Amino acid sequence: MEFIVFVESAGSPVGIVFSKGIPKERLKPEEPWPALPRATWEPKEPGILSLSLLFRAVWPDVPDLQALGKKLGLTLEDADPWKRVEALGKALLMALEEVRSWPMAARKELSRLLPEGWTLPHPLPPSRPTPPADLDEAFNRLWKKGFSQRKTQREYAAKVAEALERGEIVLLEAGPGTGKTFGYLIPLALSLQKGGRAVVATRTRTLQDQLWKKDLPWLEENLGLRVERALLKGRENYLCLRRLMELEQRLVPEEMLLPLRVLAARNADLDEAAFADPWLIEELRDRPWRCQGQRCRFWGGCPSRRARDAARAAKLVIVNHAVLGVDLATENALLGEYDYLVVDEAHALPQALREALGIELSPKDLPPLLAELHQMDQGEETKILEEVNVRHREFWDAVRSLCPFGRGRLKPEAASFLLKNAGPLCAALESLILALKKKETEPEILAGLMAYKDELERVLSPESGEWVQWFSRDEDVALGLTPLDLADVLNQKLWPKVKAAILTSATLSVARSPRFLSTKLGLPEDAPFFSWPSPFSYEQVRIAILAGLPEPDHEDYPQALASLLKRVVEVAPVKILVLFTAKRTLASVRSFLADVPHLAQGFDGERDQLLQRFKAMSPPAILLGLESFWEGVDLPGKELEILVVARLPFPHPAEPVLEAEAERLRAQGLNEFRELSLPLAVLKLRQGLGRLVRTPTDRGVILIADSRLASRPYRPAFLSSLPVAPKIIHSPEELEVVLREVFR
Ligand code: SF4
Repeated sequence: MEFIVFVESAGSPVGIVFSKGIPKERLKPEEPWPALPRATWEPKEPGILSLSLLFRAVWPDVPDLQALGKKLGLTLEDADPWKRVEALGKALLMALEEVRSWPMAARKELSRLLPEGWTLPHPLPPSRPTPPADLDEAFNRLWKKGFSQRKTQREYAAKVAEALERGEIVLLEAGPGTGKTFGYLIPLALSLQKGGRAVVATRTRTLQDQLWKKDLPWLEENLGLRVERALLKGRENYLCLRRLMELEQRLVPEEMLLPLRVLAARNADLDEAAFADPWLIEELRDRPWRCQGQRCRFWGGCPSRRARDAARAAKLVIVNHAVLGVDLATENALLGEYDYLVVDEAHALPQALREALGIELSPKDLPPLLAELHQMDQGEETKILEEVNVRHREFWDAVRSLCPFGRGRLKPEAASFLLKNAGPLCAALESLILALKKKETEPEILAGLMAYKDELERVLSPESGEWVQWFSRDEDVALGLTPLDLADVLNQKLWPKVKAAILTSATLSVARSPRFLSTKLGLPEDAPFFSWPSPFSYEQVRIAILAGLPEPDHEDYPQALASLLKRVVEVAPVKILVLFTAKRTLASVRSFLADVPHLAQGFDGERDQLLQRFKAMSPPAILLGLESFWEGVDLPGKELEILVVARLPFPHPAEPVLEAEAERLRAQGLNEFRELSLPLAVLKLRQGLGRLVRTPTDRGVILIADSRLASRPYRPAFLSSLPVAPKIIHSPEELEVVLREVFR
């Protein structure tokens, strides 16, 4: 196929003829141009393929041209127009290759973009090797493909295979760099060749996407490990096709709509729509109360419905912890029954399950449902609707007047006061529910209202003492109900139903025992547990405990830590991440850092944005992060060379579930600090420390800026969890010596 790619250059277009994928001939403005199909970045003209729109439709997850260039390894914004045209032409060819494997519906949707004379390249029949016979063969092939031979990864995979074979529930702890993902995916895929269904649950949607888009396709193409698979996220992550069609009436430009139609036809989720404005994404989310279900005329092509159906039919389903929790709460309605379960980042499972099995209500939940009804001109119901609105406002005003700022448990007297206040709201909701039942027209809104009323009553009056009632007040207020004991739920609804389960993470144990986590998850104390340290070398890593600093609660602490950071930057002008547990301390430290290049969470942006900006900064630079920076942050090599822990991460004692758990432990005659706060803090510290060494060649220094670690009796629990023996230092001079050992 021959075509011209051209761009405007100082007012006149320059172009290159591409023939058989190779740039062939340069065209200057004054020369005659052959009559070939044309593609351009600018300007957009009818009959000419718009590359900006094509790229957006093919790679909607790439926010801009610079990021696309990085992804494709091309300089798409070169100042030299010839180089720019050539790079754009190559990107066009890559886009056409990319869509070869797309489903027919998505190719058809994308074809609408093509001007006359263009056709998409035909799909290629998949070519994949025959699957390996066993684990040995699979790993031999993996190593032949250039993967480094990691003894621990092979051992880890053998344990996974053994557990699947024997039907065991095992806890596998493996440090960063072990290669856990292939370590469990390969034996799992091999096992599924013999039959059965499996669910893999990750903590984050990012890891879910990595397994789905990168790891599983790679194993299929390179090792022949093909498993019929599906990806399932929460339904609000999918686009509602009906609302997308409605947007066409609202003058939303085609530059937005076409890529979204292609996205829906590919059954992709909204996490990929990086190009779209947040308001547009919100407009399009599948929300249960506005979904018309089977009555919807787009039911057949509905991405959310198709994703759920695909998940129930697939042999391997990739979900996140939250979806796993929803499936548990709904008796496997989402995923159907399965034989094997792999939970990655399993240290975070209890929290995610508690959230999924619990309830959280805020003043923002009911209004969208009522707004849907308003739009429908309900006639007689208008009055009842008004009543609900008024009672809703009154109820949440009462909640605001009762709940102080912060988070806490809802005491019984407060709960009964609010239950009384919720009476008029529940009565008004009941009238509305009855009126809608009579009309039989809006089953989804009716179901939403019934669920809301039921949840409100449960939050204020739970059926047993196994639930923790709580409030949270920040910019706005929320009420919630969280199960106290997960062990019972899991022992009834999960463990007896699966043949085997793998719970894995880099941090499962405290003082080399997984007892804390296994008890929480309802597993026996002697559940099989295996642990492998990170294969990365820690020879170039030093840990120092800064015993000379005031204790973290002391008023002089923020200034002392800031002075120390300035000193560190002078001696070692590298990139530094400081992990905080409290926003107030972060803010105070930040106020003393005006003359040092830094970014702070909550002041300069939120996590993902801050990480991007931090990566782009030249050293020295300091990043001050809160809770969300303790896990899942990947800054290899020179992107991070010093990690500072501003305070040992003990959980806040007033955290409602923690307070209730502590109460229960005390009632059992157990020590709540030793049994609860300490293990939680050790696990979290281990997670935090894992941010520093991300590749085999990483080096650096960890500074624990909490002098309590040098003196308190709980020291051994933390010290035994550190990857190298720490030095206790008392003065800036001693600190300088430690820094110079690494940054000579
Ligand atoms: S079935 Fe529901 S989510 Fe799907 S397109 Fe229709 S209204 Fe939207």
